[in-house]
Amino acid sequence: MRNMSQKVKKKHYYRQKDVVAIEEDATHEFKGHRNLAVEELPPWTKERKTMKASRKAVSRSLNAFLNTGKGGTVYLGVIDNGTVLGLKLTLSQKDHVVASLQDLFSRYHPPVPSHRYKVKFVPVLGQSSTEEEVLRLISKTDSDYSDTSQRHRAHEFRTHHYCWCDKDYVAQLNMGVLSPDYVVEITIKPWDPDDPSNTDGVGMVVNLHPMHEDEEGNVYMRRQASTVKYSLNDIAQLTRQQVKEECEAEIRRLKTEIASLSCQSDSEDQNTNHQP
Ligand SMILES: [Zn+2]
Repeated sequence: MRNMSQKVKKKHYYRQKDVVAIEEDATHEFKGHRNLAVEELPPWTKERKTMKASRKAVSRSLNAFLNTGKGGTVYLGVIDNGTVLGLKLTLSQKDHVVASLQDLFSRYHPPVPSHRYKVKFVPVLGQSSTEEEVLRLISKTDSDYSDTSQRHRAHEFRTHHYCWCDKDYVAQLNMGVLSPDYVVEITIKPWDPDDPSNTDGVGMVVNLHPMHEDEEGNVYMRRQASTVKYSLNDIAQLTRQQVKEECEAEIRRLKTEIASLSCQSDSEDQNTNHQP
């Protein structure tokens, strides 16, 4: 518990144009945009499919982090080379990100329950701005919205068109009102076979993480810093291998247990024999 409260207290910020200390690898991915689902990608990204720099939905990386069972974090607002640009977001746009992620995961097969991931909006400080200035800006822009009925208004997902919250943002911008910048950290937690939420109340010898199909019915895996599409055959092979490894580990554990039990009973026998 002490660790948790320390974590909450620790202030976490990014600074505009800084290069982050982490690199893209098996559990970290940078994205300069917030197109979560494939339908949110603007049409130009599909026209330029052959270009190396074409944009991919965030969903792929999240899907891959789920399917390795090891989890990982996608950083929205950090571009490929690790430079922090941040994303300007109003409170309703932050609500939009959370709700559209929920919508996306509800379309996965099987769906992803909320205890498997978390979303964090980490403020980005301007190159010369202080923490206090940014916090003041956040509390001001957030409070402009938090008291209104807008917060209960449904957001529009699964489209590349602007949602009402984006239109509000543009209107606000035209009036010269700036929104704070954030890096949005979406973290998939590593699979914990002992978490009661992951067992469905059924006792299992091998509790493997589920393989999730994404919103298009595809399955991705993470290999080093890249996301790879898996075929049904790849998945079957991988699952067989994982079950084999898990079973072998369980057999080894049981053998050791049996060996230690028989040692105990041997020494007990010896003790009996030596009694006069
Ligand atoms: Zn919206």
